[in-house]
Amino acid sequence: DRIAREQDREFAEFRKRLKDTEQFKLDDGAFDDATYAAIYKLVQDGHLGAMGGPISTGKEANVYEALDGEGGDVATKVYRINASNFKQMRDYLEGDPRFEGLRGDKKAVVLSWTRKEFSNLQRAKTAGVRVPEPLAVQRNVLVMELIGREGDAASKLSDVTVENPQMAYEVVREYVRRLYDAGLVHGDLSEYNVVVYEGELVVIDVGQAVTVHHPSSADLLERDCRNVANFFARQGADADPDDLLTYVREH
Ligand code: ATP
Ligand code: MN
Repeated sequence: DRIAREQDREFAEFRKRLKDTEQFKLDDGAFDDATYAAIYKLVQDGHLGAMGGPISTGKEANVYEALDGEGGDVATKVYRINASNFKQMRDYLEGDPRFEGLRGDKKAVVLSWTRKEFSNLQRAKTAGVRVPEPLAVQRNVLVMELIGREGDAASKLSDVTVENPQMAYEVVREYVRRLYDAGLVHGDLSEYNVVVYEGELVVIDVGQAVTVHHPSSADLLERDCRNVANFFARQGADADPDDLLTYVREH
């Protein structure tokens, strides 16, 4: 009918405008038609106003600055449907009771992965871990709080000089413990997935985080503890992987 045709036309115009935006011209994989539709839906629902420039372009996802419906800063993570490591993603999802009976194809895996990151962010936040606040999820697109400001996104811990490594270590140690208490293991925790802005440490990239029931959760926790303790020890903190593991498990 007429309304449907009108909506089709509006969507076509929206997609064309988005496609013509400079930052998307170079990108092939991330933005299939269904991704444009997902962004359009987020705009219609008031979660997004405009897409900004890329903060990061990776193999699995791109992260962009964006504005929400009211002009506030947000970050938007767009997963590629053709993610290079979707087989590994499936292994992480399969042991997770929240994603039982998952279809095995690429698209289903990546969409579940996006929802998993969203719900992991919620769970981490509830557990008292400082993460970007999850705002909306639609298909392979996740909208969250921007850590930092427009044009000045937070830096990775790996890219800064840590002012007080002992204090920073103790903060991250507490995050790992709280996450574990809430039944989650980050699974890719290191100085590359903690950002810092105005002295505040924020854990990011929780898509691969698994529940403690996952068959690999113990190994992943051990690796997280090793990465974190070794990094802070290099910065001069009194940190040891085994002590950290014990602290997380037994406090
Ligand atoms: P990579 O493989 O490059 O690490 P990724 O798929 O693991 O990418 P993330 O780690 O979640 O994705 O995000 C990539 C980068 O984008 C981060 O290292 C960080 O610099 C930036 N970033 C992600 N989320 C946010 C956010 N909410 N606010 C500010 N910057 C962010
Ligand atoms: Mn990352």
